[in-house]
Amino acid sequence: MARAWKRRKIDVAELVLGMKRNDRVAWCSWVVFLLLAGCLSASANAQSFEITGRTMGPIEYRVVVSGESTEKLPQDTARQMINAELQQVNRLMSTYLADSDVSRFNRSDSTDWFTVDALTAQVVQRSIDISQVTRGAFDITVGPAVALWNFGAQQQATAQLPSEKELQQVRAVVGYGKLSVRQEPPALKKEKAGVQIDLSAIAKGFAVDQVAGALDRSGVTDYLVEVGGEVRTRGDNLQGGPWRIGIEKPTEAGRDVLAVAALENQSLATSGDYRNFQLIDGRRYSHTIDPRTCRPVEYGLASSSVVQDNRANDGCMTADALATALMVLGAGQQEGEDVRQRCLDFCRDQNITGFFVRRDQSVSEGGSAGFSTFSTPGFPLAAPALVEETGQSSGSIWPALLGAVVVFGIAILGMAVGAIFGHKPIQGSCGGLSAGSGQAGDTACSVCEQPADECPDWEETKESSEVPNEPAP
Ligand code: ADP
Ligand code: MG
Repeated sequence: MARAWKRRKIDVAELVLGMKRNDRVAWCSWVVFLLLAGCLSASANAQSFEITGRTMGPIEYRVVVSGESTEKLPQDTARQMINAELQQVNRLMSTYLADSDVSRFNRSDSTDWFTVDALTAQVVQRSIDISQVTRGAFDITVGPAVALWNFGAQQQATAQLPSEKELQQVRAVVGYGKLSVRQEPPALKKEKAGVQIDLSAIAKGFAVDQVAGALDRSGVTDYLVEVGGEVRTRGDNLQGGPWRIGIEKPTEAGRDVLAVAALENQSLATSGDYRNFQLIDGRRYSHTIDPRTCRPVEYGLASSSVVQDNRANDGCMTADALATALMVLGAGQQEGEDVRQRCLDFCRDQNITGFFVRRDQSVSEGGSAGFSTFSTPGFPLAAPALVEETGQSSGSIWPALLGAVVVFGIAILGMAVGAIFGHKPIQGSCGGLSAGSGQAGDTACSVCEQPADECPDWEETKESSEVPNEPAP
């Protein structure tokens, strides 16, 4: 009977797997190697650390460093470095700190050059550039209007609707043409007393760029930096792919994800009307101000998200400012205006990549749960998803493990089919199989050509029946 086993019959395993027995040994070894390599590489990629905290008052920040980058920068050093960068931006640009560059400049009534730090001058210069590009939709001199609508550092518990006279007074000091900046030596200049600046719509993006620059200089190549929702990424996430960033549904209550952007060496900034607003006489007023009217924007977008490549080192700062500008440019004078076309035309003309959410009904008039989205060509939208993935998922090893189990299962199945239907022994040591036992208490040793140590009896049987292969009759 044993002789019959050795006759050359149709080897089903050969049919199924398309290879001869010796090839199958090599193939199995290769599968095992791949599985091990996969597991090892999964665990290598699984290295990451995350540093979180608060900056500029209540704003949350998060830095994730993944992969081999973690070896270049110890976590404690990274934390110190990140905090130093964020504190510097806060110290210079906060409207909440009395001695910041911004607060001191705002208090001054002098129309002479006012000395500031080089970084402050750099951000103001970029702000003025973006004001020009956006025809004044982005304007850091909007500060007095921001305060008038009860936003910002001097915010009161309740807000009053400003009078027309008050609006006229702030219009007289708002306008980026009333502000000058120079770099050598760094200084700002106001055209008249009362001109003030508010860097809230650009400082977070700038802080992100500063942290990213520090990580770059430390040799870190795979990271995500986020400050208050403005994000900059480089390299790969924990799974070795693009960083995936959730874009929120524009709802006040939850943090549901509406869509996911997959970023590759890009920054993403989002401005919205859904979290920071004033309720005056039952009507909602957004914290985004149209600098030309000094009124909160209406009838426009619920949120705008802008993506910028990091080729320039100010990618996130630019995205941050443009996202605010698009909230202004997208706003209408009345409900029903073609906000979509206006946004898309502007983005096409200025080569801006964006994703926009529009409410079906103006939120200031009660709003509705419904909203629609539109985006420019080239926006890196991954399939809309329900959960945000930022490379921090603790279950990241499972896809690799599942893949490994499936591949391994197919290999075992193919060989089992070959062994059973072809009455062929399985090549290899069968270490795991030999330990199992059947219903009658017999082990699985009999299916193994090279049984493990647990199979001494089978080894003897096998040796006595060993004959050269004969051609099939
Ligand atoms: P977020 O803080 O949610 O990222 P933005 O980046 O759009 O939102 O910043 C909004 C803040 O910027 C406002 O709270 C206000 O202080 C200021 N701001 C409002 N309107 C403008 C504008 N048109 N240009 C520049 N800054 C603005
Ligand atoms: Mg912003």
